[in-house]
Amino acid sequence: MAITFSGNAKAEMCRSNLAKSCCAMAQCFGILLFCNSFRADGIRIITESRELGAMLPKLFKRAFGIAFDLLPEENATGKLNFQITDRDKIHRIMSAYGFDANDTLSLHINLPVVEEDCCKAAFLRGAFLAGGSVTDPAKGYHLEFATTHGSVARECNSLIQEVLGLQPKTATRSGVCMLYVKQSDLIADCLTYLGAPVAAMGIIETKLEKELNNNVNRRCNCDDANTSKTVEAAQEQLSAIRTLQAQSRYQSLPVKLQQAAEARLENPEASLMELAAMMQPPISKPAMNHRLQKLVQKAQEGTQ
Ligand SMILES: [Zn+2]
Repeated sequence: MAITFSGNAKAEMCRSNLAKSCCAMAQCFGILLFCNSFRADGIRIITESRELGAMLPKLFKRAFGIAFDLLPEENATGKLNFQITDRDKIHRIMSAYGFDANDTLSLHINLPVVEEDCCKAAFLRGAFLAGGSVTDPAKGYHLEFATTHGSVARECNSLIQEVLGLQPKTATRSGVCMLYVKQSDLIADCLTYLGAPVAAMGIIETKLEKELNNNVNRRCNCDDANTSKTVEAAQEQLSAIRTLQAQSRYQSLPVKLQQAAEARLENPEASLMELAAMMQPPISKPAMNHRLQKLVQKAQEGTQ
């Protein structure tokens, strides 16, 4: 399975070490509130992240001294499935966060768990690891957190606003509440905060690359447009001059126009500015344009 941008970001976050036990509790809390199921009848965490898979048993051991009842098989491919089904274990985890295991409808972000700044970051990292994703910036800018608990989504929104000074947008899709961010610089801020500065740099670099390409394209298009206009105008002038010569009307033209015509004949690719400088005495660009236009006009008069 190819590792996605999101997978790499999660792998990077999993390398953040949780020095303090308060943060281990907070990170578990984020994982539980944003995982597949956190209910009295079972806890289920399903992830594609190998790194999160490697971290989960250690993290739960450290935070609660609890082992999972179901672990993915060794060398499992695809999604990894972790479960706790033992009522007693679930009860211990619920009460550690101040919840009654029989009333999980009241799940919310228990503020004392995320009181310290270190714990706020650990909580949100856990939330992202279990229920978040970030799109490859080459395809678009989108970072999201998803949870089935409505009040948790609202509280998480306030928490993100508090620590990052940005307000994620919200949406609900078939019972799942999403918090999402669409601006590249804000996504980079989120990733840095969550412990994935390399992924954040990836977002910034892709954005700069895109901007650079756009600028280059715009400039090329602009150059092409100008060049083809100049070439077209010069061809029109050359054919006008040849017409005048073929009709023997050339010799009767005013000297200034003959001078302009000669300069153009000898320099088919010169710009107006360059031709203007060749005149004796040199003239302005509009004056040069006027003389060449006059030649085109005279040629057209003659053929009518
Ligand atoms: Zn902490």
